[in-house]
Amino acid sequence: MPCDHCGSVSQIFWRDIRWPEGKMQEAAWHCPLCGGAHPEYRKPALLAQGHWQATASGDGKTAGFHLSSLYSPWVTWTEIAEEHRDAKDDPVRLKVWVNTKLAETWEERDGESMDETALMTRREKYGPAIPAEVAVLTCGVDVQDDRLEMELVGWGRDEESWSCDYKIIWGDPSAPELWRELEQYLTATFEHETLSDGLHIHAACLDTGGHHTQAAYAFCRGKERQRIWAIKGMAGKRPIWPKRPTKAAKGKVNLFGVGVDAAKEAVFARLKKREHGAGYCHFPLDRDAAYFEQLTAERLRTRYVKGFAQQFWWKPDGRRNEALDCRVYAYAALHGLFSMGLNLNKRADALPPIPEDRERVSDARQAVIAATVPSPRRRRAIASRYI
Ligand SMILES: [Zn+2]
Repeated sequence: MPCDHCGSVSQIFWRDIRWPEGKMQEAAWHCPLCGGAHPEYRKPALLAQGHWQATASGDGKTAGFHLSSLYSPWVTWTEIAEEHRDAKDDPVRLKVWVNTKLAETWEERDGESMDETALMTRREKYGPAIPAEVAVLTCGVDVQDDRLEMELVGWGRDEESWSCDYKIIWGDPSAPELWRELEQYLTATFEHETLSDGLHIHAACLDTGGHHTQAAYAFCRGKERQRIWAIKGMAGKRPIWPKRPTKAAKGKVNLFGVGVDAAKEAVFARLKKREHGAGYCHFPLDRDAAYFEQLTAERLRTRYVKGFAQQFWWKPDGRRNEALDCRVYAYAALHGLFSMGLNLNKRADALPPIPEDRERVSDARQAVIAATVPSPRRRRAIASRYI
């Protein structure tokens, strides 16, 4: 783009989109050389005068192009700035923003491995009533040979989450008692801090991939209206929730293929968050060490296939990971609700206010959290690229 003021030609980068303090609606592109401002209304003229410029020599036959949303005639710089403001505190949403709006790849924060002990020290006092911030409940159920394990997760504004229950139902999945108990649980009403009618489970995902596939199908049959979904974890590059289900059990059950790799990535990115707010994961005081060991059992590793890096989730031999699976399925259920049009923030904003007399554990915790954040310089270095 040629600058209106000095005539020099520059690319539009996010760092050059600026606005007067508190006036994001006046977001404008500033020439990186002379600092001259170009308000939104100048964009069509800039686009008309712009040209493509090669940045690599190439082979003379193929050409690749890179164009971010900052050039789009259909999205304003203000809109992009607003999206950034809403996403910047949550690594998962910020990653999506960087990928889709800047058309840039995202650098994973390597070396910050998950630490179950650190997670355990952040447990908080809440429950058994569902916390006042929670607007939506989902459940993820893992089927094992002698039991069902499930996590009940409460979701609030910006996908801040509260683990509300972790339950194991012992029994034989090929016999009916176990499933009756599961049905009771999934259809129960849970006491909520501020909603007098309590809260029910909005959606649940049941893993059908284990040894008891047919029993799991049988349970889910006819329950799709109650949003009890039969799912199967699928590795590889795919979205958390599929566009459409496949048919199983001779066409009688809709089976949803859940992108577990993407879901695990999101879960792990959020477990790393240390400040309450967008994406933060809360755990109750009664959760034991074994739970956190399972939750952090897997690691993202990189392998090279024909010279290309490929990331995959790796679990050390013998470590159990049911807690992680349950969290992944509960998160998938939230995405299932999103696909049906759920607006989580709207629901969260409609909740009654948080009771003032509630024990403020979180303030004390915040101080502890602030004091234990490691390597702030590194965090700042990464964050400053986009904020
Ligand atoms: Zn200029």
